[in-house]
Amino acid sequence: MKKILITGGAGYIGSHVVKALGEEGYELLIYDNLSTGNEWALLSGRLVQGELADRAALDRVLTEFKPDAVIHFAASIVVSESMAKPLAYYRNNTATALNLLEALQDHGVERFIFSSTAAVYGIPEVIPVNEHAPLAPINPYGTSKMMTELLLRDLAAANPSFRYVALRYFNVAGADGGNRIGQAYKNPTHLITRALKTASGIYPELQIFGTDYATPDGTCVRDYIHVDDLASAHLLALESLLAGGDSAVFNCGYGRGYSVREVVDMARKVTGVHFTVTEAPGRDGDPPALIADSSLIQRTLGWKPRHDDLEYIVGTAWAWEKKITGK
Ligand code: UDP
Repeated sequence: MKKILITGGAGYIGSHVVKALGEEGYELLIYDNLSTGNEWALLSGRLVQGELADRAALDRVLTEFKPDAVIHFAASIVVSESMAKPLAYYRNNTATALNLLEALQDHGVERFIFSSTAAVYGIPEVIPVNEHAPLAPINPYGTSKMMTELLLRDLAAANPSFRYVALRYFNVAGADGGNRIGQAYKNPTHLITRALKTASGIYPELQIFGTDYATPDGTCVRDYIHVDDLASAHLLALESLLAGGDSAVFNCGYGRGYSVREVVDMARKVTGVHFTVTEAPGRDGDPPALIADSSLIQRTLGWKPRHDDLEYIVGTAWAWEKKITGK
């Protein structure tokens, strides 16, 4: 069976991809520094704890494991933090990707899947946004990911035997349908997680960041995608690359948006808790609306979302939240 190296595989999205690939029988090695990931989240594979900046450690892993492909998740992901600490984001996201790609070149590993983000679009002129839209990130997080996409583009142009797929994630949420894994950040910033932690009494209130955006109800609109559907997109991208498919860039979302207020309503409905909501100023670096045109991945890889249902997304996240808080 093919061997896949997964950086950041102990994190939220990575662990759901590890689950999906493990179920298909792939041999997995997870390389993770456990800064935000957890060993218990690995339902398959073997963990090597290490830093992507540590070239000697990477060389050891590549020499020993000899992966057929790499899926690269390990990164920092908080937009507001990236505004405050831009260099940390370029260091941790872009410089480590460069380090990883150099190591892969030296070891002859030529299949690569990259966790990119809708943040590379900034404030799109056309919504739903497709992959041809200009890359115009409005925060260092998005820029750090865009720069990695450009490294991949240029590497593939210079070396046609190197093939990659960059997946631009929209707002990933929800948890494993079997309730074994889910989000477990120490300081979660994502809307659905914070809403559910408010419902369970961990936070006293949920703040709505910004109510005067140019959107139907004034709050930001996002395209929420269930993490298991995102995992199946990785599986298809991997199968395509291993079968000799071309390099490609794909959006991953459902093509519909929900406002912050709509998400709050759903979280109240699912939990049955009318938790307190307050209005606060918008966060730096937040675009008003992001909705995916995902027709390309559906056409090209045959990706079929199975959980395009906000109630299911919030429901699985709530089941997980109750499990980890012991309620
Ligand atoms: N948001 C909010 N309150 C929160 C967390 C998030 O109003 O406690 C808003 C945020 O401003 C954005 C949307 O919810 O408009 C989604 O934010 P999230 O951090 O989940 O994802 P992002 O779109 O930033 O990747």
